[in-house]
Amino acid sequence: MPGSDQVMMLPIPTSCKETIRTKALELGFCAVGFSALIPQREAMTRLREMVSEKRHGEMRYLETGIAERDNPELLLPGVKTVLSVAIAGPHRKQLQDETNGIFSGHATVPDYHRVVMELLRQLLDFIRSEVGTPVNGLACVDGAPVLEKAWAESAGIGRTGRNTLLIVPGAGSMIFLGELLLDIEIEPDKPLDWDPCGNCSACLDACPTGALVAPGKLDARRCISYLTIELKREFTESETGMTGPWLFGCDRCMEACPHNQARRIRPHPAFMPSEEILGLTAEKILELTGSSFKRLFAGTTVMRLGLKRLKRNARAVVKKKGNAWT
Ligand code: SF4
Ligand code: SF4
Repeated sequence: MPGSDQVMMLPIPTSCKETIRTKALELGFCAVGFSALIPQREAMTRLREMVSEKRHGEMRYLETGIAERDNPELLLPGVKTVLSVAIAGPHRKQLQDETNGIFSGHATVPDYHRVVMELLRQLLDFIRSEVGTPVNGLACVDGAPVLEKAWAESAGIGRTGRNTLLIVPGAGSMIFLGELLLDIEIEPDKPLDWDPCGNCSACLDACPTGALVAPGKLDARRCISYLTIELKREFTESETGMTGPWLFGCDRCMEACPHNQARRIRPHPAFMPSEEILGLTAEKILELTGSSFKRLFAGTTVMRLGLKRLKRNARAVVKKKGNAWT
């Protein structure tokens, strides 16, 4: 601005941007892209509709973080760029006998929040060393009030499918997302010109509870992942009936997706499944003590759930044993 003390910052050179992208891929991310700080009106409308229709259930954090989701400046003053990354997560290992309860793939591997956060911190250190001027940055993984799928779409790393999840070409939707908010200008990438779904509706057909109430529209209150991971209280009778064989999470809609069945990109090496967790049954979970729970699940996302709620999920499985699972 003429006459002001503000120093005009130019975008970093394209070569530097590409060096950052290469470093992100070397760290093991399977996709990386850059977006300018643009309004995310569609995503905000979808979020407000979900909350006003109460489809978010009891996830109060979706009500309280609206201002921050709408304006990342509230998280990092001066933010100019959102760098989005995806990392390939595990497939569910089909070792488990479904009558005794099953875990979503991500329950059996190291907690992706920690894995992605550590890699983003390394990437931020690298950016600081490359750019040569002070860089303020904020690393975000899942829990932060950031519209992660919208930013990933703007950054051109994928498109949201009818299952409401981001689909990355070659990696599908069995991925985890992360963001670096940066106060430097980086030339944005273009969104992908790609419809990942076409005429497919496999995820809607596969959902055992009808939680995908329309293409791209989720009613979390019917979603087994929400019920077994997010819900803090005991289940009602009808919720007990909905969770099927799942002890933590649900992968049915992802397993049905052709992008996951044909994915070329292998899981990041950090995500090696624990055979000990895979061998657990609902009955064994009901016998766990606080210390055996910690020994088994230390460093996994299941620690965030806690033993009390894991036992709640296990009781629901035991109660329905003998039923045909969908
Ligand atoms: S996670 Fe399970 S319950 Fe939720 S939408 Fe997908 S298939 Fe349905
Ligand atoms: S299963 Fe089919 S409709 Fe659903 S997200 Fe995958 S490609 Fe899209």
